[in-house]
Amino acid sequence: MGLYSVQDLLFHLPQRYQDRTQITPIGALQAGDKVLIEGRIKLSEIQVGRRRSLLCYVTDGTGGIFLRFFHFSAWQKNLLASDVQLRCFGEVRRGFRSLEMVHPEYSCLSGNDLEAGETCLTPIYPTTSGLQQSRLRSLILRVLRELDDNEIIDYLPQTFLESLHLPVLNEAITYIHQPPPEAPLELLAAGRHPTQQRLAFEELLAYYLGLRQLRLRAAQLQSPSLCSEGIWVQHFLERLPFPLTTAQQQVSQEILNDMTRSSPMQRLLQGDVGSGKTVVAALAILQAVEAGYQAALMVPTELLAEQHLYSLQQWFSPFEIKVERLVAKENAKTKQEILTQLNEGCLQVVVGTHALFQEGVAFHRLGLIVVDEQHRFGVEQRLALLEKGRHGDYYPHQLIMTATPIPRTLAMTAYADLDISVIDQLPPGRIPVATVAISDYRRSEVAARVRQACHQGRQVYWVCTLIEESESLQAQAAEKAAVELAQALPEVRIGLIHGRLKSEEKETVMTAFKAGVIQALVATTVIEVGVDVPNASLMIIENAERLGLSQLHQLRGRVGRGATDSYCILLYHGPLSELGRARLDCLRVTNDGFEIARRDLELRGPGEILGTRQTGLPQYRLADLVRDQNLLGWVAQVAEKLQQQYPAKAAAIVHRWLGRGNRYGEV
Ligand code: ADP
Ligand code: MG
Repeated sequence: MGLYSVQDLLFHLPQRYQDRTQITPIGALQAGDKVLIEGRIKLSEIQVGRRRSLLCYVTDGTGGIFLRFFHFSAWQKNLLASDVQLRCFGEVRRGFRSLEMVHPEYSCLSGNDLEAGETCLTPIYPTTSGLQQSRLRSLILRVLRELDDNEIIDYLPQTFLESLHLPVLNEAITYIHQPPPEAPLELLAAGRHPTQQRLAFEELLAYYLGLRQLRLRAAQLQSPSLCSEGIWVQHFLERLPFPLTTAQQQVSQEILNDMTRSSPMQRLLQGDVGSGKTVVAALAILQAVEAGYQAALMVPTELLAEQHLYSLQQWFSPFEIKVERLVAKENAKTKQEILTQLNEGCLQVVVGTHALFQEGVAFHRLGLIVVDEQHRFGVEQRLALLEKGRHGDYYPHQLIMTATPIPRTLAMTAYADLDISVIDQLPPGRIPVATVAISDYRRSEVAARVRQACHQGRQVYWVCTLIEESESLQAQAAEKAAVELAQALPEVRIGLIHGRLKSEEKETVMTAFKAGVIQALVATTVIEVGVDVPNASLMIIENAERLGLSQLHQLRGRVGRGATDSYCILLYHGPLSELGRARLDCLRVTNDGFEIARRDLELRGPGEILGTRQTGLPQYRLADLVRDQNLLGWVAQVAEKLQQQYPAKAAAIVHRWLGRGNRYGEV
């Protein structure tokens, strides 16, 4: 579980708490309570019914309750005999005859053992199979008992903490592991208690300091200065069928400038779906190649690799630049050929998935790495890439592109090692995608819409999102939807694409869809990123209520790329909660990715099932960029002051949180 040291145990925080400080009279129990009770067993018998169970009736003078055990040993049966005094903790349920507790935790009390309930709330820790809750709890308790307060060193000076209204470290840690009975449970459950904020703040600070260090180190590394006369770039722009938007021009300037420096560019390019990031990447690649270097474009899916390969080959055809593709499923011979060419330098541009940076791939002179649509591309991976592209003392420049719009304060903390460019404008003439939310019992009406769109010569995406984690279940759902759609609309040419298809199969389907041979494409979320078919103007998204707003926005970005009116139908499985309705509503009223991200964060109440995962923000151990937004403003300030006034403390904080296994210090 990543728990190696005493300190790791101290920072292993409870997920939630139970209140076992009070014994509840049995007569006062209500179904749904999770409580501690105490009483005497009046009756204990094995009941044979539909399921055999051990049933004990416990009373305390105010009332009685049944304890039910479906699994029990002979030893337990003997232990739980009449007249035994018990203390139990569990959830009260309405049973067949009266209230019951099923499989409560229990302990038998001997006569002189009548101690009071626990003196603090009982912490429930994240654990793993084979490590019992009680064992973990007693380990942590022991550490807390045996540690002297001074042994938990607080690296944050008192004066800093006072101005932030945050408690000192040992106080915070003790409190979180053993909150007093009157502690505000709701605040704790939401992770917003000052003691929790104290730790979250320190973690955010540690990452921030670490990232800043990294940035300083990177600035001292050498990179080839990719200067060119800009003739190709000029020529390329002249041949483009459209002028760049002002925003595109500006970010291109920033990027091309960075690339002429002799230390590696480390730039994040944020731009809403459809804002035209690919062209900007192409410009950067062109400059690298004109300067005599190779460039690699890395993408998350094979589908996207295919798309970019196609665009780049088209765009670069006048320049005799060779562009190839490298993905995991490539056949061995082609792969070998590409590897050789990369190594010898006769292949200038390669597009691929993470396969690009596996063992055995060696570049001749890699000058630029572009990473597209990597919402979850962490600092570790950024470093690995730098290292991979290194030749001699030279490191490649890096451009990381993402459509996940993150509010600026969040981005500055999460990506403190990067410079940030933003494309804040869409190409002209885009008509916003009209969006509606419809309950999925109206599927047949929706099918009729599909038919109508196809009749008008438009094309349609039908996206099955069912279970994001499982590619195979997603694929099954998509197959089923495709069959149903084909039955409902026999005259429409329907295609199917999902992650389980072979690369060539995917390619065939996409080519057919692009060419209009397929009219309606049933797809999984493999099409989430990058796919560009301007004639597609209707998208249906199933189970929309289960997806994060940013992800829905990203999906929706596949339509509205041409000159016609486009529509997006969010099919939901009702009934919608008030929050669910508000979320879908937000997509209906705006097409602006940044606004959607902002609303998404706002609407995300504490304890929401959609964690930070879907926002594409980095995962911390304790901190949560969304929940702890109020702290972010302080992070940079405190980091700055700490670094200046107490550099040793700053280093100690970084070491505490990122010490083990981190590569931050190594570059
Ligand atoms: P994203 O930022 O989502 O990656 P793309 O690069 O795929 O966006 O661009 C979306 C579409 O917009 C493409 O078809 C592209 O050719 C087109 N496009 C890009 N820039 C412009 C522009 N300045 N004017 C008009 N169309 C543009
Ligand atoms: Mg893109």
